[in-house]
Amino acid sequence: MTRKFPSPPSVTVASLLAWAVQVLGPTSTTPRLDAEILLAQVAGWSRARLLAEHRTVLAPAQAESFAHLVARRANLEPVAYLVGHREFYGLEMVVDPRVLVPRPETELLVDLALAAIAAMPPSPPLLVADIGTGSGAIAIALAVHAPSCHLYATDISADALEVAALNAARHQVAHRVTLLQGDLLAPFSDPHSGSPGPLFDIIVSNPPYTILDEIDAGVARHEPSLALDGGPDGLHLYRRLIPQALRSLRPGGCLLLEIGATQAEAVVMLARAAFSSPFPSCACRVHRDLAGRDRVVAIALACEA
Ligand code: SAM
Ligand code: GLN
Repeated sequence: MTRKFPSPPSVTVASLLAWAVQVLGPTSTTPRLDAEILLAQVAGWSRARLLAEHRTVLAPAQAESFAHLVARRANLEPVAYLVGHREFYGLEMVVDPRVLVPRPETELLVDLALAAIAAMPPSPPLLVADIGTGSGAIAIALAVHAPSCHLYATDISADALEVAALNAARHQVAHRVTLLQGDLLAPFSDPHSGSPGPLFDIIVSNPPYTILDEIDAGVARHEPSLALDGGPDGLHLYRRLIPQALRSLRPGGCLLLEIGATQAEAVVMLARAAFSSPFPSCACRVHRDLAGRDRVVAIALACEA
């Protein structure tokens, strides 16, 4: 239920912002930023212009739209859903409640994938898979920044793939991003021949890995649980994803997995367990994000002798 708030006191930009900061203070860690983004959206201005126009009086209908967005934000809806987009790796991605809001910490996965791509010969075009693509953020950032690659992006959610298709078109990479619906890497395998499908140079994934009881109320209330729920220990998806992905990598290929801050050891153990015969040996490395938390496990397959 949306709570009812008193109407904003008057309609200058400054007074609307001050009012919203007071309303959002108890529930948001960034009340001023939230208020500025929402008011800029309503006014159709940049945040910089908003601040320059702090004495400008807005129309009552604009003040009302703003008050409505502030009430939704106070109910913990992500700002990205309220404005309909979120920047990821310098690219504006359309987002709505069908997809997880791309997180800044996931940019590390893109950095590492781009470094791995740069270390491989560019022809023939590299094959890269993004498993659980959601908004398509990772696959599209890779397609934009690595023109030598063809991306295959899967998701079990047809709704999410509609958003990913919008983003691929928006960033003009739809011809290099193939979207496929299904469970993990199943869309690549041929049920008749039993073939696992193409061998990829790089596979990346930010799978659901949270323990639902442990996440922020706003995330749990508004973002799709299909995108978050990693089962009782958070590792549910990795158990199936790691062996499937390793079978679908070429020798010398690389699997990059986003993880929760406490999951590195368990995920490395799952990778090592999957590396009994017939796989060649592998090297696992844990990478930390800017906050110093374990964030990505990189599993590099040995090249064939
Ligand atoms: N890649 C996006 C990102 O980093 O912002 C979204 C990541 S979100 C944490 C996980 C995604 O995996 C969701 O879009 C969800 O629908 C998808 N997913 C969940 N279970 C899946 C499965 N069994 N097979 C394929 N995708 C799955
Ligand atoms: N980082 C997300 C969060 O904070 C979780 C994403 C995931 O489960 N892969 O909730």
